[in-house]
Amino acid sequence: MSLPYEIVCGLEVHVELSTATKMFCRCINDPFHAAEANLHVCPVCLGLPGALPVPNQEAMRRVILLGKALGGTSPELARFDRKHYTYPDLPKGYQITQMQAPFVNGGRIELLDAQGEVESTVRVHHIHLEEDAGKLQHRDGKSLVDLNRAGVPLVEMVLEPDCSSAAQARRVFQEMQQLVRHLGIATADMEKGEMRADVNISIRFTHDGEEVWTPVTEVKNVNSSRAVERAIETEAQRLYDEWLAGGSVRTRKAKITVGWDEDSQSVNMQRAKEGAADYRYLPEPDLPPVRTSGELDPSLMVLPELPNEFRRRFLKDGVESKLVELFLGDPELRGSLERFVGGGIAAGEVAKWLANVPGTAALPTETLAALVAHTSAGTVSLSAVKPFVPELAAYTGELDAWLRERHLLLEHDTLAVAQAITEVFATNPDAVASARAGEARLAGFLVGQVLKRVGKAGIPAKVQEQVREALQS
Ligand SMILES: [Zn+2]
Repeated sequence: MSLPYEIVCGLEVHVELSTATKMFCRCINDPFHAAEANLHVCPVCLGLPGALPVPNQEAMRRVILLGKALGGTSPELARFDRKHYTYPDLPKGYQITQMQAPFVNGGRIELLDAQGEVESTVRVHHIHLEEDAGKLQHRDGKSLVDLNRAGVPLVEMVLEPDCSSAAQARRVFQEMQQLVRHLGIATADMEKGEMRADVNISIRFTHDGEEVWTPVTEVKNVNSSRAVERAIETEAQRLYDEWLAGGSVRTRKAKITVGWDEDSQSVNMQRAKEGAADYRYLPEPDLPPVRTSGELDPSLMVLPELPNEFRRRFLKDGVESKLVELFLGDPELRGSLERFVGGGIAAGEVAKWLANVPGTAALPTETLAALVAHTSAGTVSLSAVKPFVPELAAYTGELDAWLRERHLLLEHDTLAVAQAITEVFATNPDAVASARAGEARLAGFLVGQVLKRVGKAGIPAKVQEQVREALQS
């Protein structure tokens, strides 16, 4: 379905880093599993007077690594800033974040097609590191505050408004989740609120020959990839409908900020706020600038193979795109794939076995290699051997003997096949005549008849070969 307008949207993706401790103190960073509220707190994350922050080096390493993976650059000196606002989940009255000199500038996310070619690119504006706020719970007319999450390291990736569809934005969000997991810097579990996005949406269209570009709506705290897609679809349509109906979107200049209501899967207009807040940013006086190159051990800054490199490598080796994604998302399965491929088995075959045959991952490499050789030669049928594979892992004897015992090994008996061909040809003279006249469908029918007669004494590929020779004689 084509829309009467063009979507222009950008994401700000927030991810909590899974470091052992919080961003500026030694409190445990595990708000989700804390046994009770306000358990992992100290004078620093409570914002008590006189407490001084100390930056978490591991968190800084992780954000710089993420920037490297996205092709961004880090300034020689990164700085922290204070952002002031008053909210009960932020006892200090300000958040330590980065504004002037974030850890990463630039970079890009490339979305690949099924052949491994770049389908679209979304630019990264910058990536900064900040501390998360606490959490409020509203019940029985009261508001309760839990500061276990206050001070948890939070990465914010600010992307350029390069997405032109809701589906593309959804993929970008998923791609970011995959990347941070792949780098081992965050678990990014959306259910636990470890990853969320603010989505900026605007639409562009032509009306009475004039180009219309609506002001932006920012939808805050969208907490799943599905919700990202849904928020963009519904808000873009709402902007269009409101414009047609002559609503305030025609005259408003500033961006509005609204909430995302997960229960109704819609934008919460009651929360609409217009205009930019004045956060009175100032350089954080309690923290010196961070020298990004000098303070980190270079050996810890080496990137692993990135998701897109992995994709290209295996797509080129003939692994289906769907399976490549399956392996990418499952480190254990990916480990098995690498082990077998490293042992010399064709990637396409390994992927097919691992994805479809339970028990494959536990096989010794040489066993899988022998099985693949059999199925390729037609001497073992994949579907026939499949249920027996789990018991093969513990078997130490000779594979062919094992296969023979279970009647899984097809052995080609040329004489028996020739006999069967004579019989089949004699009972199907019309089919033989048509096949000789070049009808491939009937040649296939004859092969099927011969296979039926010979059972396990004929290997399909060889039977086909013999039938073709018989048809030519
Ligand atoms: Zn603390």
